[in-house]
Amino acid sequence: MTKKIDVTEIFGSLVFNDATMRVRLPKKISKELKQTIAVGGELDSHVAEVVANAMKDWAIEKGATHYTHWFQPLTGITAEKHDAFITPTDDGGVILEFSGKELIKGEPDGSSFPSGGLRATFEARGYTAWDCTSPAFIHESPSGTNVLCIPTIFCSYTGEALDKKTPLLRSVEAVSTQALRLIRAFGDTDATDIITSVGPEQEYFLVDRDTYNQREDLFFAGRTLFGAPAPKGQELDDHYFGNLKERVSAYMYDLNEELWKLGVSAKTQHNEAAPAQHELAPIYNTTNIATDHNQLVMETMKKVALRHNLVCLLHEKPFAGINGSGKHNNWSLSTNFGENLLDPGITPHQNKRFLLILSAILKAVDEYAPLLRESAANPGNDHRLGGYEAPPAIISVFLGEQLQDVLEQLCEKGEATHSKMGSKLDVGVSTVPSFMKDATDRNRTSPFAFTGNKFEFRMVGSTASVADSSTVINTIAAETFRQAADILEASDDPVMAAHDLTKKWINDHMRIIFNGNGYSEEWVKEAERRGLPNITNMVDSLECLTHPSTVELFERHKVMSEVELSSRQEVGYETYSKAINIEAHTMMDMVRKQIIPAVIRYSTTVANSIASIKSIGFDASVQEACLSEITKNLVLMNQALIKLEKATEGAAALIDPKDQAIAYRDHVFTAMEELRRPADALEMIVDKDVWPFPTYADLLFNV
Ligand code: ADP
Ligand code: MG
Repeated sequence: MTKKIDVTEIFGSLVFNDATMRVRLPKKISKELKQTIAVGGELDSHVAEVVANAMKDWAIEKGATHYTHWFQPLTGITAEKHDAFITPTDDGGVILEFSGKELIKGEPDGSSFPSGGLRATFEARGYTAWDCTSPAFIHESPSGTNVLCIPTIFCSYTGEALDKKTPLLRSVEAVSTQALRLIRAFGDTDATDIITSVGPEQEYFLVDRDTYNQREDLFFAGRTLFGAPAPKGQELDDHYFGNLKERVSAYMYDLNEELWKLGVSAKTQHNEAAPAQHELAPIYNTTNIATDHNQLVMETMKKVALRHNLVCLLHEKPFAGINGSGKHNNWSLSTNFGENLLDPGITPHQNKRFLLILSAILKAVDEYAPLLRESAANPGNDHRLGGYEAPPAIISVFLGEQLQDVLEQLCEKGEATHSKMGSKLDVGVSTVPSFMKDATDRNRTSPFAFTGNKFEFRMVGSTASVADSSTVINTIAAETFRQAADILEASDDPVMAAHDLTKKWINDHMRIIFNGNGYSEEWVKEAERRGLPNITNMVDSLECLTHPSTVELFERHKVMSEVELSSRQEVGYETYSKAINIEAHTMMDMVRKQIIPAVIRYSTTVANSIASIKSIGFDASVQEACLSEITKNLVLMNQALIKLEKATEGAAALIDPKDQAIAYRDHVFTAMEELRRPADALEMIVDKDVWPFPTYADLLFNV
């Protein structure tokens, strides 16, 4: 039977959005709140009081008994602590209350969240503060204990950011301020605000829950630490955009319904390249809301999967040998009138403002490439960057034929006089109408690609919050916009000044543009010749966070202080070490308690078979060869196990976070790879009935 949902009816039904506010708030209050949302500034306490009360009444009608300040600590996921609305009365009962104060400020303590030393050296208090630019919503639970969630920022007693949202919001203001200066210098006096948008595409895997439950590595580490390749991988490209299996389709249906209720505009869904891999993309939104929504997308994906007896894997590289998962951060800027500053128009060569903005972004990406790389770094992404579909760890920009041509004209002739046009595409089938094709083809391998009217940063990992990458993109763009605005504002002829600056910056930063195949070996060599950094792992990438130029950049734009930056660096080292430590322990556990016992059992069976076959005078050479191969790998595995035990012990004993992360990378991680090899070899020769956990084939092809 076809289930039918009324999309327009349910969309946003769990969100305290504009429509709800219109009905629930007095006009004057609603206006004041909107004013604060639009231009910032402090919210009047009376307004907060009225809003809190309206929110509470609305939430109770939606079945909520509790509220929470919903925030995004440096763990990269969200955090919540629930408080009931109840206040005791004199007669032993309760009334339901929610004050403006409770709406605006919370003190969740939360001293156990990673802070990179911030909270040891300062007061241990942490505060959450209402971020009214992202609407409150209801978390539904099947048990009926619904919770009103209020998006907040999380900071320390002394105002240092302890979360991912605070720097993000600061960066949004920074880029908005500088971009506005820039377009004003060009004579645009109408725009009063610049809005940054993000459209995060989210990739994920779905596996059967019963199968998943038999894999300790998936359970503890989110990725397979062992596993020989299945006979078939993704080589036939038959999964990519393939038709959806019923179970997956039912999952996506429920997922969309849940997301639409939360006001998340889930739009595109399809099978991805690897078996069992899928993607969801929402329609882009303001940076802040898109960041919150992406968290909701990830949470909801996991939650809904369980209902279908599935598990959603968000890890960047759950399986070796096939594609990993990323999150493309589609980024653009527009005026408050909706004019996209990254739209080149039909004749980009005449669009001087666009060309200046473009050259400023090229400069920003070239000069701060290590920072961008760092913003996409997490332990999982180390497996992905440079492998299979993932962009390489080298940052470069793809512009496409049309813009490339305009920039070359500018550099070579000092003037761009024409733009290549999209031509008519005739597919040679008389019943298919011919149509205009775009002036530029796509490039799937570029880490930072211009895609029509936005940049697509493709390095971000699938588990990561989009906050980090957006914070960096906003801040580095703010910096070069600032430099341009300074020059234009000081000039008598801003248009000419812009022209000269555009030419200079394009000339200076040509090396960052690469339109070729980013996956090729040649590109790695070519990038090295060009002097572009190739930072292959998270530990190395963290280095740049405390570099003087980084500190100067972030402090100038008031996005992060030196203290905040170094705390994030420390959290980064710790996160890396902890992730590898968990993986190492999981591997040792699986080898000791599952693989070795199974292999011993099986080899005993083979040995017995050899003895009995020989005793009656038959040829046991096949069994003997098998046993010899098993024994060889068993010995190798045991040696690798001992080595991993030592390496892990050694790394765990180190005190300095950076030294420790380096030890985990250079000694533990390498020992893990050594342990995996003989184990995977054994999986290929040991009886499947004896192998202690499901294989890649079981995981990837049974949904
Ligand atoms: P593709 O996979 O071809 O890159 P998708 O449709 O999967 O395209 O995703 C593109 C994403 O970019 C969507 O989230 C879309 O809403 C977003 N997007 C489109 N235009 C803009 C824009 N101007 N600024 C930011 N994001 C945008
Ligand atoms: Mg896509």
